[in-house]
Amino acid sequence: MYGGSNHLLGFSFGANVAVADHPKAKQLSVVQNARQEETEDSCVICLATLGRADSQKLSCSHIFHAECIRELRKFGSSEACPLCRRPLTELRSVQAMMDEAATLLLRKVADGAAHERALASKAKAIVRDILMIDPNHVWAHVSLDCILMDQKSISRAVCAYNAALRCNSNLIHNSTEQHVRQQTECVQSQIFRYLAVALYDMHDMKGALDSMLAAHPIDAEGRSFLGLVMYEQGRLLECMREMRAALCINPSCFVALFFLGITNYDLGDLDGALISSVQH
Ligand SMILES: [Zn+2]
Ligand SMILES: [Zn+2]
Repeated sequence: MYGGSNHLLGFSFGANVAVADHPKAKQLSVVQNARQEETEDSCVICLATLGRADSQKLSCSHIFHAECIRELRKFGSSEACPLCRRPLTELRSVQAMMDEAATLLLRKVADGAAHERALASKAKAIVRDILMIDPNHVWAHVSLDCILMDQKSISRAVCAYNAALRCNSNLIHNSTEQHVRQQTECVQSQIFRYLAVALYDMHDMKGALDSMLAAHPIDAEGRSFLGLVMYEQGRLLECMREMRAALCINPSCFVALFFLGITNYDLGDLDGALISSVQH
């Protein structure tokens, strides 16, 4: 065995104290040690030098740049140390975390009120961790919004929705493939709808209106939502116009039929109110 032989390079073959003590050998040894430290002090992910402030030690004792570890978790699926291949929980991928959060949120709906709080706060913690690793993760933002909305933290949910819209518009901007672009545009439209509802809950009717108008295409539900906002603003004729537009898309749209009846009643058109209420 040549244990430790790389310390002294060729000189170690002799394993001879006299040779090792030779000034030339000492000089070489110093150079060699410096080289070894250099490799220990560089990150094997990016090969750049490790600084004290920006490095992170994993539980297997291997050290990498904290930023490189974040990138690894963002895109990686192996969840193992790049040096010793040991599987480590601190290398959990963002995808696995997002899957867990989504499962918790689904269970929250299925389990009902019994575990609702515990499941929501667990999902919230995971989603927050994801955003520490990948601040631009659209679905992490959207999931956070849903949890915050449930917890009635509506103004914080609005912030999270706006963050989701910003991240997603970057995705739209940067997507070169047609189908990816279409998908991200659909997501953008969906987030605008969610945001519109949150703003409505905050009684910001103008914001709700603008947000719903930014969603493309606006479906029957969206149209009836616009009508609802106009009703809140006292714009009854415009409300009726939107409700009729909603019914053109979906003739059995419940909200549109209901509010068409109410606006007819408010406008003193009792026949119209009667027809609408009979229809629904
Ligand atoms: Zn690195
Ligand atoms: Zn390791």
